[in-house]
Amino acid sequence: MVDNIKPPSMLGILGGGQLGRFFVISAQNMGYKVTVLDPDKNSPAGKISDVHLCASYNDKSALDTIKNTCVAVTTEFENIPANTLEYLETELIVRPSSRAVSIVQNRIHEKTFFKNNDFPVGPFVVISDIKSLGLVPNDIYPAILKIAQFGYDGKGQTHVNNRKELELAFEEFDCKPCVLEKKLSLDTEVSVVLARASNGEKVNFPVIENQHVSGILDISIAPARVANSLCCEAIHYAELIAKKLNYIGVIAVEFFISNEKIYVNEVAPRPHNSGHHSLDSCDFDQFDQQVFTLTDSPLNNPKLLENAVMVNLLGDIWFKKHKLAPPNFDIFEGSSKEVLHIYGKSEARPGRKMGHFTVIGNDIEDVLMRAKKIKSLLLKK
Ligand code: ADP
Ligand code: MG
Repeated sequence: MVDNIKPPSMLGILGGGQLGRFFVISAQNMGYKVTVLDPDKNSPAGKISDVHLCASYNDKSALDTIKNTCVAVTTEFENIPANTLEYLETELIVRPSSRAVSIVQNRIHEKTFFKNNDFPVGPFVVISDIKSLGLVPNDIYPAILKIAQFGYDGKGQTHVNNRKELELAFEEFDCKPCVLEKKLSLDTEVSVVLARASNGEKVNFPVIENQHVSGILDISIAPARVANSLCCEAIHYAELIAKKLNYIGVIAVEFFISNEKIYVNEVAPRPHNSGHHSLDSCDFDQFDQQVFTLTDSPLNNPKLLENAVMVNLLGDIWFKKHKLAPPNFDIFEGSSKEVLHIYGKSEARPGRKMGHFTVIGNDIEDVLMRAKKIKSLLLKK
């Protein structure tokens, strides 16, 4: 291992949401300073950083400040313009690289990368313009049209059942490039969060089982309750994807399991919502690993100390009959086995991730039951 970057060096992170905030906490706990670049003056990570550059992601003067003050830079979301990363790469350590991010931030590049490298993917067609609509096979329906860039949490996606609906949906998306995916019947979904170092060394968290509601992650269960053979396949593919991308940093790979077969869904070039349980259930969490990979510090193989269930808290539960009525979180007082995290966002909005909680324990079914009970109490208010 090359000499590692030592505290109190300044690290940079592009993006100041909740993922950035957990990165800042982890890095600061290890003695590093952190600069956050985010155009939102109320960004959750910006508020607790050493330096918050409140500017857009292609603001040259902000990027030059990062170049002059930081030793290494990472990112918390995939929509950072790839040329911003390229600009920083000329003088700084940037992890993940602009190349890796530019592939996974565009669904067309991402799916084509999976296909060209023989990873198992569900049937899909690239819709780059009106003309490509003519080439769509009829057996793809029912299908999901997904805009190639800037979609997240189920946004920029719509279900289509036939050619007519596809045409309308494509127009709704302003005829921007899309992928059209066959809708798979899902047994379940899983993800693998993995950290890969500059020397190729890698560690992973146990495979996580994910339940979505309306395209947004609702509950994550660690470890996943799926056959060991499928978990091994998921880890194998995640490792291979990271390797083929020459990836350095924390990467999350989402998978579908359909009729007992595994398919790669998508890659997030950063820690992942499904890995949030690691904050409370593991000795080293996913944000610690992000700091280790960025600073060339030795990776620590994370241990799951207790089984865990994580539940997302969306802005919806901050409202009652359309009036602001934040939930009562008294229920969390006094237990180290039921941990609440609130991200410090300035405003609650329906569908917006405001926080999460994690329940830990030995018996996963019991943990899941406790988590669901807490959720129903929060919904009731
Ligand atoms: P996002 O970037 O919003 O996470 P995804 O492509 O992961 O986008 O889709 C969000 C969720 O929608 C998935 O986790 C899954 O529950 C559902 N979904 C997406 N694509 C498919 C598909 N091809 N078949 C079945 N379900 C899907
Ligand atoms: Mg997804």
